[in-house]
Amino acid sequence: MKESNYIEREFEALGTYNYIRIYDSESEDLLEQAVSRVMDINNLMSAFRPGSDIDRINHNAGIKATPVSEEIIHLLTIARRFSESSGGAFDITVRPLVQLWGIGKKGDYLPTREEIEEAKRLIHYEDVIIDYPNSTVYLQKVGQAIDLGGIAKGYAADEVRRVLTEGGIQSAIINLGGNVITIGLRPDKTLWRVGIQNPKEVTGTYLGMVSIENKTIVTSGVNERYFIKDGIRYHHILDPRTGAPARSGLLSVTVVGESSVIADALTTALFVLGMEQGKDVLKASGAEAIFVTDAGKVFTTKGLRENFNLA
Ligand code: AMP
Ligand code: MG
Repeated sequence: MKESNYIEREFEALGTYNYIRIYDSESEDLLEQAVSRVMDINNLMSAFRPGSDIDRINHNAGIKATPVSEEIIHLLTIARRFSESSGGAFDITVRPLVQLWGIGKKGDYLPTREEIEEAKRLIHYEDVIIDYPNSTVYLQKVGQAIDLGGIAKGYAADEVRRVLTEGGIQSAIINLGGNVITIGLRPDKTLWRVGIQNPKEVTGTYLGMVSIENKTIVTSGVNERYFIKDGIRYHHILDPRTGAPARSGLLSVTVVGESSVIADALTTALFVLGMEQGKDVLKASGAEAIFVTDAGKVFTTKGLRENFNLA
């Protein structure tokens, strides 16, 4: 099949830019189906959309349990497991802190120590009570709120892959706001080459390329959403222990793995923990990673030495 023989959709969802490209120009319907799947996930999981499952759970915090879809139960279960295995570095109840800082929304607002302490008291993943028989979710304290921003894109990317492969697609690339999944080989039968964003440069400037087949590549970095005040960069990945943007000596973390939802949770957790503290979490996941330190040094795990080339 020729390289030009593809169809593509670019669209906004999950608070970011996305594209899906499939190398099968006859599968328009399938492509549309994949896009609607992302839109449905967006509608279910957005904390901003009034009436979404997550919005209803958040509004009922400390008041009552909320009936939700099986899909939300499934994702909250994954999130819970990951919060446990990362010692709370990954925590979907981080929303009160996300709102307090308002990175990318409130200009260069710096919260006071008291405000941070107050919000921090609400961050506690164990307060998300899932009632499986009744399919309900309850947040135990008034003011608590869930934010799936750290895993929703990964989950949606996995779902797009499922829709496409079940539809018989053998060559495709999916990019949901930097959560990349490749299916099969490129039409010319070579490996997909995915650019890794250089966290010090403008979007689209690559640190290097990873060559892969049937894998997901996810990056979390300081360059995605941030403001700079008095020479300090405040970015959107928050450390639940300090209540502030994580300072773990990293500019970005890239994870290469099988499941995009796990890779997405991992990048966020590893960014919070840093290279040393995150070692065991990474090992247990079986995924590979690329770290860029504050000093601009690049470290890759052994399994990637053959597949990663610096630009
Ligand atoms: P990512 O780009 O995947 O690292 O996700 C960052 C997004 O996840 C942020 O914009 C927040 O919505 C949310 N978030 C920030 N800090 C955390 C955290 N420690 N645990 C879980 N989600 C977080
Ligand atoms: Mg993430």
